Amino acid sequence: MNQTPLCSTNLAEAAANAGAPVPAERRPQKRQLSYTQLNMFLRCPRQYEYRYMRGLKVPPSGAMVQSRVWHETVEFNYRQKIHSDRDLGLGEMQEFFVSQFDAALASEEVAFEPGEKAGKLKDQGTAIVAAHHKAIAPAVRPLLVEEHFTVGLGEDFPFDLAGVWDLVERDGTIADNKAYSKTPQQEDLDKDLQFTIYALGFRATRGEIEPGLRMDAIVKTRNPRAVQLHTRRTNGHCRWLLGLIEQVGKAIASGIFYPNPNGWHCSPKFCGYWDRCMGRKNGR
Ligand code: SF4
Repeated sequence: MNQTPLCSTNLAEAAANAGAPVPAERRPQKRQLSYTQLNMFLRCPRQYEYRYMRGLKVPPSGAMVQSRVWHETVEFNYRQKIHSDRDLGLGEMQEFFVSQFDAALASEEVAFEPGEKAGKLKDQGTAIVAAHHKAIAPAVRPLLVEEHFTVGLGEDFPFDLAGVWDLVERDGTIADNKAYSKTPQQEDLDKDLQFTIYALGFRATRGEIEPGLRMDAIVKTRNPRAVQLHTRRTNGHCRWLLGLIEQVGKAIASGIFYPNPNGWHCSPKFCGYWDRCMGRKNGR
């Protein structure tokens, strides 16, 4: 595979140099910028301010807990498969999902949305586990599972870029596990920043181009079904992302976190800071 030239901006040079990382103890401590943070800032800077500047967390919905526990269940299987080369039985995986889901509900504050019921989410969760186990897991050959990566972005830049690959297969393909209520679209995947971050992380930390990027999705219909979509990224996409990160870094440093009420995300259902920003806690 080829060495990756990422070199049109200062950030790009820094990312390219990440192939020969400086030991962590010799690097100054930096804040980390993840896809989740970047995405939140782009959606609504004020939401970012509440969450990441003021540290205000909002409890997850039932669906978010279901999705997280499903991720843990897939991870549970893939981690042992690195060595065994075999999937766990479906029954064992569903038992794991149920016990983790029950433990999460018993120990965490969960903000159930209207219509969400714990039992229904649990049943749907076991069906999602089954759909993934049948249609996706058998062909997967895991090399790395839930692997963290960090990309240095230059001495003067206040953030490192941080991410986690859900799965890297033995041939180097990076795959992401998702559960959706609607069928994911190819055109959305092709411009999804999370996948560009996966590609950039791979190229910067491993010095080679990933052979493939894939989304392993389960669509949460009455009978959940599996969808696999493939996408590609070029060095041009990675440079574009680095330019965006540079701009966002400057915007955060400026301390101006304006609200963005335009879009689906700005509603009592989808923004956990609604009361604080738009509602009675703000005198409205
Ligand atoms: S209520 Fe709307 S504008 Fe305010 S933080 Fe939430 S998404 Fe942003």
